[in-house]
Amino acid sequence: MSNAIALYARETPGFADRVSHAAALLRSAAEQHPGRIVLASSLGAEDMVLTDLIAREGLDIALATLQTGKLHAQTLALVQRAEKHYKLAIELHEPRAESVVHFVQRHGDDAMYRSVELRKACCAMRKLEPLERLLAGRSAWVTGLRREQSGARAEVPFSDADDHGREKLSPLADWTWNDVWHYIATRKVPYNALHDEFMPSIGCEPCTRAIAVGEDFRSGRWWWEQDDAKECGLHVSSPAGSVTALSRKANPNTQEASA
Ligand code: SF4
Repeated sequence: MSNAIALYARETPGFADRVSHAAALLRSAAEQHPGRIVLASSLGAEDMVLTDLIAREGLDIALATLQTGKLHAQTLALVQRAEKHYKLAIELHEPRAESVVHFVQRHGDDAMYRSVELRKACCAMRKLEPLERLLAGRSAWVTGLRREQSGARAEVPFSDADDHGREKLSPLADWTWNDVWHYIATRKVPYNALHDEFMPSIGCEPCTRAIAVGEDFRSGRWWWEQDDAKECGLHVSSPAGSVTALSRKANPNTQEASA
């Protein structure tokens, strides 16, 4: 059977160094931000690698994810599997119930397909506003961004500052997709079963599809849109596209996350 490990796991030169470097970055960040650092996990393959590194090193880095209300059953099942495997709790941050009811009543459950603006409004309500609460009171966060993931991420640094001055770490910035899966295979890391169904990048159920051989890895996300629109805003830092700016559009009463 051809699964994601068989398809992608390869050891390439420098792998051990990249693992050591990522672990060192996490250790250093945990020491610099005691009790105030969180992995904002999408539960994707990269974030499961980071979860494993954090657990193995016993680091004081919280684990959290956005339960948008639109996740696949396989993704929700992974939360429970990972908690059991690592004996660690994963925080779930949900959109505000009244915002969801209001949005669905006004625009319908399939609004994301009708325009980029409505899709971004859905992401703002279900992802960006809960992300602000996830990050509230924290001075640093960890992401699974890699330079290889897309043109928009080609310059991702290992460490950066977000719009609120929090440190934003991407310890896997220089990892390849082969690295990610070699790590998962050799450390027996739990991963989303959807990766075995040709979904390398997994988001909400209505907005993720399997990709074909030769397609870009993120082409299964919001596949009906043009490439330049295909970010949900979680990792956009321009004034118009920042977490705060976009979530304010979704909910004018949103409070700024504290740094
Ligand atoms: S990915 Fe799709 S369902 Fe999820 S928040 Fe964005 S538009 Fe809504």
